[in-house]
Amino acid sequence: MSFADLGLSDKVLQAVTAAGYTEPTPIQAQAIPHVLERRDVLGIAQTGTGKTAAFTLPMLTMLENGRARARMPRTLILEPTRELAAQVVENFERYGTNHKLNVALIIGGVSFADQDAKLMRGTDVLIATPGRLLDHFERGKLLLTGVELLVIDEADRMLDMGFIPDIERIVKMVPFTRQTLFFSATMPPEIERLADMFLHNPQRVEVARPASTATTIVQRLVATGSEGHEKRDRLRRLIRGEAELNNGLIFCNRKRDVALLQKSLASHGFNVAALHGDMDQRARTIALDGFRSGEVPLLVASDVAARGLDIPAVSHVFNFDVPHHPEDYVHRIGRTGRAGRAGNAFTLVGRGDDRSLQAIETLIGQPIPWLDGDLSALAESGEAEGETRTRHRGRSTRGTAEPARRSRGRSASGEGRGGEGRGGEARGGESRGGASARRAAPERSRSEEVEAAPPRAEAPVSVAPVAAAPSRSRPERGEDRRQDRGPRGRHREEDDGATPVGLGAHVPAFLLRPAVVKKRK
Ligand code: AMP
Repeated sequence: MSFADLGLSDKVLQAVTAAGYTEPTPIQAQAIPHVLERRDVLGIAQTGTGKTAAFTLPMLTMLENGRARARMPRTLILEPTRELAAQVVENFERYGTNHKLNVALIIGGVSFADQDAKLMRGTDVLIATPGRLLDHFERGKLLLTGVELLVIDEADRMLDMGFIPDIERIVKMVPFTRQTLFFSATMPPEIERLADMFLHNPQRVEVARPASTATTIVQRLVATGSEGHEKRDRLRRLIRGEAELNNGLIFCNRKRDVALLQKSLASHGFNVAALHGDMDQRARTIALDGFRSGEVPLLVASDVAARGLDIPAVSHVFNFDVPHHPEDYVHRIGRTGRAGRAGNAFTLVGRGDDRSLQAIETLIGQPIPWLDGDLSALAESGEAEGETRTRHRGRSTRGTAEPARRSRGRSASGEGRGGEGRGGEARGGESRGGASARRAAPERSRSEEVEAAPPRAEAPVSVAPVAAAPSRSRPERGEDRRQDRGPRGRHREEDDGATPVGLGAHVPAFLLRPAVVKKRK
């Protein structure tokens, strides 16, 4: 099947050729003809499958006729995060080079004024996160009664992030006669219910099993002690040992750990940025652009911030924490090994991670091999007891390629000790992983690297070298707030340490005084 068979306009076909695509991906081949027939579509597909073009290409074709009116967008695309929304805009820019369409991005964290001006000019395509869209609506700057086509993208993520009530409100504001395209990577019962509610006689298209991981990804578990400093130490050695590391995404379960780990790695000489929901939009954009351009080869991220990001060639994914939700594992490691490329995914596993790990292996339907022996081997070496000495093991599950992948470089500048550790754990000159991920850092003496002592960075560190220091966004409704809280405990990023119940340990004195009830005369 070729793009020409799908019914797309000539202008769109030219843009597709210019983008270098030779044939449609399965989701595109299945969905585009139905979209052009103005059918509702329920698309079950993950990011990385070409699903964005599956709706942007036919939308461009359909929008060639007609004109936008002030404050009344013709089409509306809802995305759960700002980054995903921005990515959809990039798609319209890429495929819409031959069109003169007004595309507006309505997301939180940036000023209303520019967005108001864009809406006033008339919008063919409005791409928005739900919270900011409702803000504009409530301020009277937007009417949704002209929407002919509605796209709800990443519906399962919308659910996780607590956006469903907002989505339900928005859907009530768009005409009943609209066409609706609904995409989700997974179809839990609540999403099925929404699909039933929002879609009229939809065409269901589905690609790849939602729980599948790409076969091009080498997945390994890495045994580690459970203390933060032990995990950071293990991660550093892992990164330095990866000779083929071009760029890597490092996932943490908690936002605060993202910031902490980024600072720690930076202080150890790695060129690393951070991406999490508490950073303001500018800092998020800088971090992401730096990583995308290759300027910053390592990015520490939280699940919500990194979900669905299209970074085509990520060589490595490191799970600093085993994700609590098994589907997050699939999403995380899906950042690497895209489009048939080779990818590597390492997951640090400590004691207490067994249940999460078991859930992941059940979901993906296969056991994940250990890199250097499991946790019992770790106990033998004493590392689990907090002794983070570089381990010496000849055994590897990565096969014959392993020795070649490991650098045998100098040890004086690294944490790997000469002759003691695996070659790759020395910070070697030949190690591309070490070299590319590290900025020019002062060589350290071995005494500074006494592993039992926490690295200098792990005390509060002032500023990150690459990413702008994370700062809190101005609190506002919509995405910013939702990214922080999430309803009913579903939100992945809410797990930010113990939250005091009620007033916590502190109860003001006036509340402890006995209540005096006066009797009425
Ligand atoms: P998405 O799933 O929309 O995030 O797309 C993932 C990546 O696939 C993006 O980098 C697209 O540019 C790319 N892509 C989309 N359609 C095609 C295609 N037909 N052929 C090759 N690459 C594509």
